[in-house]
Amino acid sequence: MSDKPFHCGFVAVVGRPNVGKSTLINTILGSKISIVTPKPQTTRHRILGVDSHAGYQAIYIDTPGLHRKAGKAMNRMMNRTAANALMDAEVIMFVTEANRWTVEDQDVLERIQNTSAPVIAVMNKMDKVHPREMLLQAIAEMSARHEFAEVIPISAKLRNNVDRLVELVPGFLPESPPLFPEDMITDRSENFRIAEVVREKLTLALRQEVPYGLTVQVERFERDDNGIAINAIIWIDRDSQKGIVVGKGGKLLKKVGRAARLELKADFGVPVHLELWVKVKDNWSDNEQELLRLGYESP
Ligand code: GDP
Ligand code: MG
Repeated sequence: MSDKPFHCGFVAVVGRPNVGKSTLINTILGSKISIVTPKPQTTRHRILGVDSHAGYQAIYIDTPGLHRKAGKAMNRMMNRTAANALMDAEVIMFVTEANRWTVEDQDVLERIQNTSAPVIAVMNKMDKVHPREMLLQAIAEMSARHEFAEVIPISAKLRNNVDRLVELVPGFLPESPPLFPEDMITDRSENFRIAEVVREKLTLALRQEVPYGLTVQVERFERDDNGIAINAIIWIDRDSQKGIVVGKGGKLLKKVGRAARLELKADFGVPVHLELWVKVKDNWSDNEQELLRLGYESP
């Protein structure tokens, strides 16, 4: 037993869509708590990842990417969610791509500059930057943009330099007892995570537009000696999308169901029976009430 005081607090992970925020949190926690795809707007909710150690507990907040055009109700809700995370944080991880700086990154930086928390610039995807001089130059450019507490290049995907980043975190956390039980790694329910796995497989299988118009809801979850039985509904916002999501002869839906089932089976360690239904709810993503009903919080 040590009598050193315990430290605990929130770490907001923010950045424009697709820079690798969710990948980073999954890598830090060594567990997939947040889904990842090559498409923007994959993360739609605030998801907490709890990292407990002997002397401290860091609570990472995964956020939807902050983006410019906040058109539909869902996009506005996602922007609000990300902005709120900034206010809760003891320290902010501002994630960018090491090989790219865009106006969207600039936008996010300006929002961060309006908060008082210290900011660590996390330059992700350093595996894409060659030669080394390019990386050094990118680091110098980043350092000139703001008084960052630290500027750290990493590769979240390859786990390069992530330990160095994580070691910095306790230094920013205030004295506080742990806020979550030590064995808890996320605040999200089992049903939420199942729905997200299905949405990830759907997003990967579909081409650009459709993924933003769909959401997944677990309707039934039953566990017995033979394994787990799950029924989930895929909500789409226009009837015309049904054919695309189901695919020719049900092919796409079958493929999605199989991929999701395999991941869930590996996750739970027991056989999983998964049934997917596609239903239409007109324009759900632009309707505040429907958003709440479908599990989208309104901070
Ligand atoms: P988010 O929208 O910021 O949460 O980004 P995601 O975590 O969903 O990642 C977006 C894409 O970037 C995915 O295809 C990831 O596999 C990819 N990615 C994340 N980290 C890295 C990295 O360190 N290197 C490379 N090359 N790709 C990465
Ligand atoms: Mg994400």
